[in-house]
Amino acid sequence: MSENLSPDDIRFCIRCGSPLVSRLRAGKIRPTCSSCGWTYFPDPKVAVTVMVVSQGRVLLIQRVNPPQEGRWAFPGGFLDAGEDPQEAAIRECLEETGLQVRITELLGAIGRTQTPIGAHLVLTYGAEVIGGTLQARDDAGQAAFFAPQALPELAFESSETIRAYLKREASGQRTAGR
Ligand SMILES: [Zn+2]
Repeated sequence: MSENLSPDDIRFCIRCGSPLVSRLRAGKIRPTCSSCGWTYFPDPKVAVTVMVVSQGRVLLIQRVNPPQEGRWAFPGGFLDAGEDPQEAAIRECLEETGLQVRITELLGAIGRTQTPIGAHLVLTYGAEVIGGTLQARDDAGQAAFFAPQALPELAFESSETIRAYLKREASGQRTAGR
């Protein structure tokens, strides 16, 4: 799905094509152009997902591509540079499930060095259905709503966010500023 490059993989300047050398830049040794001074700063890869809840059940898609193939996860995908994260989440959900949704809140922002889907930061939005017809499409094998007590085998970030959501619902608290 994604291929994250390490600084060692970057060998030539993307601006002028000269070989890169290791130089101290902004507090770290970083690949730096020997000719024009361009410096490679690895940017975090961001994924956006949606947790769509309808009548107490959670919308999940079954992944058809590795990693985590066969496991279930929130609809979602990678954010392109310059793309609005909420619009990206809405678009990915429509592409994968056929459902049009409206974002209601930001549920989670999980960052780690390397997540199972290859993102460094996963934003998960709460959303509700406003239209469309449920139909698995794109890179989703299946799309279905599941009761919280009967969830299938989940990809990691999904289970973390669902657990936090259920805990919050059980305590009767809502996030402020929805
Ligand atoms: Zn250069």
